[in-house]
Amino acid sequence: TESLTVGELAKKLHREPSEIIKKLFMLGVMATINQELDKDSIELIAGEYGVDVEEEVLVDVTDLEAYFTEDEETNLEERPSVVTIMGHVDHGKTTLLDSIRHTKVTAGEAGGITQHIGAYQVEDKGKKITFLDTPGHAAFTTMRARGAKITDITILVVAADDGVMPQTIEAINHAKAAEVPIIVAVNKMDKEAANPDRVMQELTEHGLVPEAWGGDTIFVPISAIKGDGIDELLEMILLVGEVEEYKANPNRNAVGTVIEAQLDKGRGSVATLLVQNGTLKVGDPIVVGNTFGRVRAMVNDLGRRVKTAGPSTPVEITGLNDVPQAGDRFAVLEDEKSARQVGEARAQLALQAQRSEKSRVSLDNLFEHM
Ligand code: GDP
Ligand code: MG
Repeated sequence: TESLTVGELAKKLHREPSEIIKKLFMLGVMATINQELDKDSIELIAGEYGVDVEEEVLVDVTDLEAYFTEDEETNLEERPSVVTIMGHVDHGKTTLLDSIRHTKVTAGEAGGITQHIGAYQVEDKGKKITFLDTPGHAAFTTMRARGAKITDITILVVAADDGVMPQTIEAINHAKAAEVPIIVAVNKMDKEAANPDRVMQELTEHGLVPEAWGGDTIFVPISAIKGDGIDELLEMILLVGEVEEYKANPNRNAVGTVIEAQLDKGRGSVATLLVQNGTLKVGDPIVVGNTFGRVRAMVNDLGRRVKTAGPSTPVEITGLNDVPQAGDRFAVLEDEKSARQVGEARAQLALQAQRSEKSRVSLDNLFEHM
Protein backbone atom coordinates (compact mmCIF):
# COMPACT_ATOMS: atom_id res chain seq x y z
CA THR A 1 0.00 0.00 0.00
CA GLU A 2 1.03 3.55 -0.72
CA SER A 3 -0.62 5.04 2.34
CA LEU A 4 -1.28 4.33 5.98
CA THR A 5 -3.31 6.10 8.61
CA VAL A 6 -1.51 7.68 11.55
CA GLY A 7 -2.88 4.88 13.73
CA GLU A 8 -1.63 2.14 11.40
CA LEU A 9 1.81 3.71 11.16
CA ALA A 10 2.01 4.04 14.95
CA LYS A 11 1.19 0.35 15.24
CA LYS A 12 3.87 -0.65 12.77
CA LEU A 13 6.45 1.45 14.59
CA HIS A 14 5.28 0.20 17.97
CA ARG A 15 4.63 3.72 19.17
CA GLU A 16 1.63 5.46 20.63
CA PRO A 17 -0.45 7.33 17.98
CA SER A 18 -0.17 10.47 20.14
CA GLU A 19 3.62 10.31 19.77
CA ILE A 20 3.33 10.12 15.98
CA ILE A 21 0.85 12.99 15.97
CA LYS A 22 3.29 15.04 18.04
CA LYS A 23 6.17 14.17 15.67
CA LEU A 24 4.03 15.23 12.70
CA PHE A 25 3.12 18.45 14.47
CA MET A 26 6.82 19.20 14.99
CA LEU A 27 7.27 18.70 11.27
CA GLY A 28 4.49 21.16 10.60
CA VAL A 29 1.76 18.63 9.82
CA MET A 30 -1.50 18.71 11.74
CA ALA A 31 -2.95 15.20 11.83
CA THR A 32 -5.52 13.04 13.54
CA ILE A 33 -5.31 9.32 14.25
CA ASN A 34 -7.43 8.29 11.26
CA GLN A 35 -5.73 10.59 8.83
CA GLU A 36 -4.15 8.99 5.77
CA LEU A 37 -0.47 9.76 5.38
CA ASP A 38 1.25 9.81 2.02
CA LYS A 39 4.44 7.93 1.23
CA ASP A 40 6.69 10.93 1.89
CA SER A 41 5.25 11.56 5.33
CA ILE A 42 5.49 7.85 6.17
CA GLU A 43 9.12 7.82 5.11
CA LEU A 44 9.84 10.96 7.09
CA ILE A 45 8.31 9.65 10.30
CA ALA A 46 9.73 6.15 9.86
CA GLY A 47 13.14 7.73 9.31
CA GLU A 48 12.83 9.45 12.68
CA TYR A 49 12.71 5.98 14.21
CA GLY A 50 15.49 4.57 12.09
CA VAL A 51 13.08 2.52 10.00
CA ASP A 52 13.63 1.81 6.31
CA VAL A 53 10.63 2.13 4.09
CA GLU A 54 11.52 -0.20 1.25
CA GLU A 55 9.61 0.51 -1.94
CA GLU A 56 6.04 -0.08 -0.88
CA VAL A 57 6.79 -2.26 2.09
CA LEU A 58 7.26 -0.87 5.53
CA VAL A 59 9.89 -3.05 7.18
CA ASP A 60 9.08 -4.01 10.75
CA VAL A 61 12.38 -3.21 12.47
CA THR A 62 11.41 -5.17 15.54
CA ASP A 63 11.20 -8.36 13.48
CA LEU A 64 14.75 -9.71 13.59
CA GLU A 65 13.91 -12.01 10.69
CA ALA A 66 13.74 -8.87 8.55
CA TYR A 67 17.51 -8.42 8.95
CA PHE A 68 18.19 -11.78 7.27
CA THR A 69 18.14 -10.20 3.85
CA GLU A 70 19.50 -11.83 0.71
CA ASP A 71 22.79 -10.66 -0.74
CA GLU A 72 23.82 -9.94 -4.28
CA GLU A 73 25.45 -13.02 -5.80
CA THR A 74 28.66 -11.06 -6.43
CA ASN A 75 29.07 -10.39 -2.69
CA LEU A 76 28.82 -14.03 -1.70
CA GLU A 77 31.78 -16.10 -0.59
CA GLU A 78 32.14 -19.72 0.41
CA ARG A 79 31.44 -20.40 4.09
CA PRO A 80 31.96 -23.46 6.31
CA SER A 81 29.13 -26.01 6.48
CA VAL A 82 27.19 -26.10 9.75
CA VAL A 83 26.66 -29.68 10.88
CA THR A 84 24.36 -31.24 13.48
CA ILE A 85 24.65 -34.81 14.75
CA MET A 86 21.45 -36.75 15.35
CA GLY A 87 20.48 -40.32 16.14
CA HIS A 88 19.02 -42.70 18.69
CA VAL A 89 20.16 -42.48 22.31
CA ASP A 90 23.41 -44.40 22.98
CA HIS A 91 24.22 -44.79 19.30
CA GLY A 92 27.32 -42.64 19.82
CA LYS A 93 26.51 -38.96 19.07
CA THR A 94 28.52 -37.55 21.96
CA THR A 95 31.40 -39.96 21.36
CA LEU A 96 31.50 -38.93 17.69
CA LEU A 97 31.49 -35.19 18.51
CA ASP A 98 34.36 -35.73 20.96
CA SER A 99 36.24 -37.92 18.52
CA ILE A 100 36.04 -35.36 15.71
CA ARG A 101 37.13 -32.56 18.00
CA HIS A 102 40.07 -34.49 19.39
CA THR A 103 41.36 -35.84 16.10
CA LYS A 104 41.20 -32.49 14.39
CA VAL A 105 42.30 -29.95 16.97
CA THR A 106 46.06 -29.60 16.58
CA ALA A 107 48.44 -30.02 19.48
CA GLY A 108 49.11 -26.30 19.76
CA GLU A 109 45.47 -25.65 20.30
CA ALA A 110 44.99 -28.43 22.80
CA GLY A 111 44.91 -26.00 25.71
CA GLY A 112 41.56 -24.74 24.56
CA ILE A 113 40.00 -28.15 24.26
CA THR A 114 38.21 -27.99 27.57
CA GLN A 115 36.38 -24.84 26.48
CA HIS A 116 32.75 -25.58 25.86
CA ILE A 117 30.66 -23.05 24.01
CA GLY A 118 28.05 -25.31 22.45
CA ALA A 119 29.68 -25.47 19.04
CA TYR A 120 33.11 -25.93 17.56
CA GLN A 121 35.02 -25.77 14.32
CA VAL A 122 37.51 -28.19 12.83
CA GLU A 123 39.69 -27.80 9.81
CA ASP A 124 40.16 -30.47 7.18
CA LYS A 125 42.17 -29.96 3.99
CA GLY A 126 42.30 -26.24 4.71
CA LYS A 127 38.53 -26.00 4.97
CA LYS A 128 36.54 -25.39 8.11
CA ILE A 129 33.46 -27.29 9.28
CA THR A 130 31.25 -26.06 12.13
CA PHE A 131 29.70 -28.63 14.46
CA LEU A 132 26.79 -27.74 16.69
CA ASP A 133 27.21 -29.41 20.03
CA THR A 134 23.61 -28.99 21.06
CA PRO A 135 21.53 -32.14 21.03
CA GLY A 136 20.40 -32.40 17.42
CA HIS A 137 16.77 -32.95 18.28
CA ALA A 138 16.64 -29.86 20.47
CA ALA A 139 18.26 -27.80 17.73
CA PHE A 140 15.71 -28.99 15.20
CA THR A 141 12.78 -28.48 17.53
CA THR A 142 13.90 -24.91 18.19
CA MET A 143 14.51 -24.35 14.51
CA ARG A 144 11.10 -25.63 13.60
CA ALA A 145 9.35 -23.70 16.33
CA ARG A 146 10.93 -20.46 15.16
CA GLY A 147 11.24 -21.23 11.50
CA ALA A 148 14.95 -20.56 11.81
CA LYS A 149 17.35 -22.63 9.80
CA ILE A 150 20.70 -23.06 11.46
CA THR A 151 22.10 -26.35 10.23
CA ASP A 152 23.20 -27.25 6.70
CA ILE A 153 23.94 -30.95 7.06
CA THR A 154 22.79 -33.67 9.46
CA ILE A 155 24.95 -36.62 10.41
CA LEU A 156 22.63 -39.47 11.26
CA VAL A 157 24.42 -41.81 13.65
CA VAL A 158 23.14 -45.40 13.65
CA ALA A 159 24.80 -48.08 15.76
CA ALA A 160 25.64 -51.03 13.53
CA ASP A 161 24.81 -53.51 16.31
CA ASP A 162 21.43 -51.98 17.07
CA GLY A 163 20.04 -50.72 13.76
CA VAL A 164 17.25 -48.24 13.13
CA MET A 165 15.40 -47.21 16.30
CA PRO A 166 12.50 -44.81 17.02
CA GLN A 167 14.72 -41.73 17.45
CA THR A 168 16.55 -42.63 14.25
CA ILE A 169 13.26 -42.32 12.38
CA GLU A 170 12.40 -39.13 14.27
CA ALA A 171 15.74 -37.66 13.20
CA ILE A 172 15.12 -38.60 9.56
CA ASN A 173 11.74 -36.89 9.67
CA HIS A 174 13.21 -33.72 11.23
CA ALA A 175 15.94 -33.51 8.61
CA LYS A 176 13.55 -34.20 5.75
CA ALA A 177 11.06 -31.59 6.96
CA ALA A 178 13.87 -29.02 7.15
CA GLU A 179 15.24 -30.16 3.78
CA VAL A 180 18.67 -30.73 5.29
CA PRO A 181 20.89 -33.31 3.56
CA ILE A 182 21.64 -36.42 5.60
CA ILE A 183 24.94 -38.31 5.79
CA VAL A 184 24.64 -41.66 7.54
CA ALA A 185 27.43 -42.63 9.93
CA VAL A 186 27.16 -46.35 10.65
CA ASN A 187 28.80 -46.43 14.07
CA LYS A 188 30.27 -49.07 16.38
CA MET A 189 31.80 -50.96 13.46
CA ASP A 190 34.41 -52.28 15.90
CA LYS A 191 31.76 -54.40 17.61
CA GLU A 192 31.44 -58.10 16.99
CA ALA A 193 27.70 -57.78 16.44
CA ALA A 194 28.07 -54.96 13.89
CA ASN A 195 25.78 -55.52 10.92
CA PRO A 196 26.01 -52.57 8.50
CA ASP A 197 23.98 -54.36 5.82
CA ARG A 198 21.03 -54.50 8.16
CA VAL A 199 21.36 -50.74 8.83
CA MET A 200 21.41 -50.03 5.09
CA GLN A 201 18.41 -52.33 4.56
CA GLU A 202 16.40 -50.67 7.32
CA LEU A 203 17.26 -47.13 6.23
CA THR A 204 16.35 -47.95 2.65
CA GLU A 205 12.85 -48.61 3.94
CA HIS A 206 12.88 -45.01 5.17
CA GLY A 207 13.98 -43.56 1.88
CA LEU A 208 17.72 -43.40 2.58
CA VAL A 209 19.16 -45.59 -0.16
CA PRO A 210 22.95 -46.05 -0.22
CA GLU A 211 24.85 -45.08 -3.34
CA ALA A 212 26.06 -48.69 -3.62
CA TRP A 213 22.43 -49.73 -4.08
CA GLY A 214 21.65 -47.08 -6.65
CA GLY A 215 20.47 -44.39 -4.26
CA ASP A 216 22.03 -41.06 -3.36
CA THR A 217 22.58 -41.28 0.39
CA ILE A 218 26.15 -41.31 1.62
CA PHE A 219 26.90 -44.03 4.20
CA VAL A 220 30.19 -43.95 6.11
CA PRO A 221 31.16 -46.86 8.38
CA ILE A 222 32.85 -45.54 11.52
CA SER A 223 33.96 -46.40 15.00
CA ALA A 224 33.57 -43.20 17.00
CA ILE A 225 35.38 -44.74 19.94
CA LYS A 226 38.43 -45.83 17.92
CA GLY A 227 38.41 -42.90 15.56
CA ASP A 228 38.02 -45.12 12.49
CA GLY A 229 36.30 -43.54 9.51
CA ILE A 230 36.35 -40.01 10.91
CA ASP A 231 38.53 -38.72 8.06
CA GLU A 232 36.18 -40.26 5.51
CA LEU A 233 33.20 -38.72 7.27
CA LEU A 234 34.79 -35.25 7.22
CA GLU A 235 35.65 -35.74 3.57
CA MET A 236 32.00 -36.50 2.79
CA ILE A 237 30.89 -33.39 4.69
CA LEU A 238 33.27 -31.29 2.58
CA LEU A 239 31.93 -33.00 -0.52
CA VAL A 240 28.32 -32.18 0.33
CA GLY A 241 29.42 -28.62 1.14
CA GLU A 242 31.02 -28.34 -2.29
CA VAL A 243 27.91 -29.61 -4.03
CA GLU A 244 25.50 -27.44 -2.03
CA GLU A 245 27.79 -24.37 -2.24
CA TYR A 246 27.02 -22.79 1.12
CA LYS A 247 27.74 -19.09 0.81
CA ALA A 248 27.50 -15.86 2.77
CA ASN A 249 28.54 -12.23 2.56
CA PRO A 250 31.30 -11.52 5.09
CA ASN A 251 31.13 -7.79 4.36
CA ARG A 252 27.89 -6.85 6.03
CA ASN A 253 26.42 -6.49 9.50
CA ALA A 254 26.20 -9.85 11.20
CA VAL A 255 22.98 -11.81 11.68
CA GLY A 256 22.57 -15.24 13.21
CA THR A 257 21.16 -17.40 15.97
CA VAL A 258 21.78 -17.98 19.68
CA ILE A 259 23.18 -21.46 20.35
CA GLU A 260 23.09 -21.15 24.11
CA ALA A 261 23.14 -18.44 26.77
CA GLN A 262 23.47 -18.10 30.50
CA LEU A 263 24.15 -15.68 33.31
CA ASP A 264 27.75 -15.80 34.52
CA LYS A 265 28.58 -14.48 37.97
CA GLY A 266 31.59 -12.52 36.86
CA ARG A 267 30.86 -11.73 33.23
CA GLY A 268 27.11 -11.18 33.27
CA SER A 269 25.08 -12.33 30.29
CA VAL A 270 27.13 -14.76 28.19
CA ALA A 271 25.75 -15.96 24.85
CA THR A 272 27.13 -18.32 22.22
CA LEU A 273 26.11 -17.03 18.81
CA LEU A 274 26.35 -18.70 15.44
CA VAL A 275 27.13 -15.99 12.89
CA GLN A 276 25.14 -16.99 9.81
CA ASN A 277 25.81 -14.04 7.58
CA GLY A 278 28.12 -11.04 7.80
CA THR A 279 30.98 -10.52 10.24
CA LEU A 280 30.46 -9.88 13.92
CA LYS A 281 32.93 -7.46 15.51
CA VAL A 282 33.83 -6.38 19.01
CA GLY A 283 32.01 -3.11 19.66
CA ASP A 284 29.04 -3.91 17.39
CA PRO A 285 25.65 -2.62 18.56
CA ILE A 286 23.46 -5.71 18.63
CA VAL A 287 19.91 -6.90 19.26
CA VAL A 288 19.69 -10.49 20.48
CA GLY A 289 16.23 -11.93 21.01
CA ASN A 290 14.48 -9.51 23.35
CA THR A 291 17.65 -7.92 24.63
CA PHE A 292 20.37 -5.70 23.23
CA GLY A 293 23.82 -4.36 23.95
CA ARG A 294 27.22 -3.84 22.49
CA VAL A 295 29.60 -6.75 21.88
CA ARG A 296 32.12 -6.24 24.68
CA ALA A 297 34.34 -9.29 24.20
CA MET A 298 34.32 -12.33 21.95
CA VAL A 299 35.84 -15.75 22.65
CA ASN A 300 36.07 -18.51 20.05
CA ASP A 301 35.58 -22.26 20.53
CA LEU A 302 39.21 -22.64 21.61
CA GLY A 303 38.80 -20.10 24.38
CA ARG A 304 40.77 -17.44 22.52
CA ARG A 305 39.83 -13.80 22.41
CA VAL A 306 38.91 -12.72 18.91
CA LYS A 307 37.96 -9.35 17.42
CA THR A 308 35.89 -10.61 14.50
CA ALA A 309 33.81 -13.66 13.63
CA GLY A 310 32.79 -14.39 10.05
CA PRO A 311 29.98 -16.53 8.57
CA SER A 312 29.37 -19.98 10.16
CA THR A 313 31.59 -19.09 13.13
CA PRO A 314 30.44 -19.80 16.66
CA VAL A 315 31.53 -17.23 19.26
CA GLU A 316 30.77 -16.51 22.85
CA ILE A 317 29.96 -12.87 23.53
CA THR A 318 29.47 -10.65 26.54
CA GLY A 319 27.94 -7.19 26.70
CA LEU A 320 24.21 -7.92 26.56
CA ASN A 321 21.79 -6.37 29.02
CA ASP A 322 19.91 -9.57 29.59
CA VAL A 323 20.14 -13.30 28.87
CA PRO A 324 18.60 -14.32 25.53
CA GLN A 325 17.25 -17.80 24.73
CA ALA A 326 18.69 -20.59 22.59
CA GLY A 327 17.18 -20.27 19.15
CA ASP A 328 16.75 -16.47 19.39
CA ARG A 329 17.86 -14.52 16.35
CA PHE A 330 20.38 -11.69 16.53
CA ALA A 331 21.19 -8.77 14.27
CA VAL A 332 23.84 -6.06 14.34
CA LEU A 333 22.39 -2.59 13.85
CA GLU A 334 23.85 0.62 12.49
CA ASP A 335 24.26 2.35 15.84
CA GLU A 336 23.70 1.91 19.54
CA LYS A 337 20.60 4.07 19.54
CA SER A 338 18.83 1.86 17.00
CA ALA A 339 19.88 -1.28 18.86
CA ARG A 340 18.44 0.14 22.05
CA GLN A 341 15.19 1.17 20.36
CA VAL A 342 14.65 -2.17 18.65
CA GLY A 343 15.75 -4.13 21.74
CA GLU A 344 13.44 -2.17 24.04
CA ALA A 345 10.54 -2.45 21.60
CA ARG A 346 11.05 -6.22 21.42
CA ALA A 347 11.24 -6.52 25.22
CA GLN A 348 8.02 -4.48 25.42
CA LEU A 349 6.28 -6.69 22.87
CA ALA A 350 7.43 -9.84 24.67
CA LEU A 351 6.09 -8.44 27.94
CA GLN A 352 2.76 -7.63 26.34
CA ALA A 353 2.55 -11.11 24.85
CA GLN A 354 3.38 -12.60 28.23
CA ARG A 355 0.72 -10.50 29.92
CA SER A 356 -2.00 -11.45 27.48
CA GLU A 357 -0.92 -15.06 27.83
CA LYS A 358 -1.20 -14.74 31.60
CA SER A 359 -4.62 -13.15 31.49
CA ARG A 360 -5.75 -15.83 29.10
CA VAL A 361 -4.47 -18.50 31.43
CA SER A 362 -6.15 -16.95 34.43
CA LEU A 363 -9.40 -16.68 32.50
CA ASP A 364 -9.06 -20.36 31.63
CA ASN A 365 -8.46 -21.11 35.29
CA LEU A 366 -11.54 -19.13 36.17
CA PHE A 367 -13.68 -21.21 33.87
CA GLU A 368 -12.07 -24.39 35.08
CA HIS A 369 -13.20 -23.69 38.64
CA MET A 370 -16.73 -22.76 37.71
P1 GDP B 1 24.74 -40.80 22.55
O1 GDP B 1 23.64 -41.09 23.53
O2 GDP B 1 24.24 -41.01 21.15
O3 GDP B 1 25.41 -39.50 22.76
O4 GDP B 1 25.82 -41.98 22.74
P2 GDP B 1 27.25 -41.92 23.47
O5 GDP B 1 28.24 -41.23 22.65
O6 GDP B 1 27.04 -41.46 24.86
O7 GDP B 1 27.63 -43.47 23.44
C1 GDP B 1 26.84 -44.47 24.09
C2 GDP B 1 27.73 -45.64 24.47
O8 GDP B 1 28.24 -46.25 23.30
C3 GDP B 1 28.93 -45.24 25.28
O9 GDP B 1 29.17 -46.20 26.25
C4 GDP B 1 30.07 -45.21 24.26
O10 GDP B 1 31.31 -45.47 24.83
C5 GDP B 1 29.66 -46.30 23.31
N1 GDP B 1 30.15 -46.09 21.97
C6 GDP B 1 30.06 -44.96 21.22
N2 GDP B 1 30.66 -45.12 20.03
C7 GDP B 1 31.15 -46.38 20.02
C8 GDP B 1 31.91 -47.14 19.06
O11 GDP B 1 32.26 -46.70 17.98
N3 GDP B 1 32.22 -48.41 19.42
C9 GDP B 1 31.86 -48.98 20.60
N4 GDP B 1 32.22 -50.21 20.85
N5 GDP B 1 31.18 -48.26 21.54
C10 GDP B 1 30.82 -47.00 21.24
MG1 MG C 1 24.99 -37.97 24.11
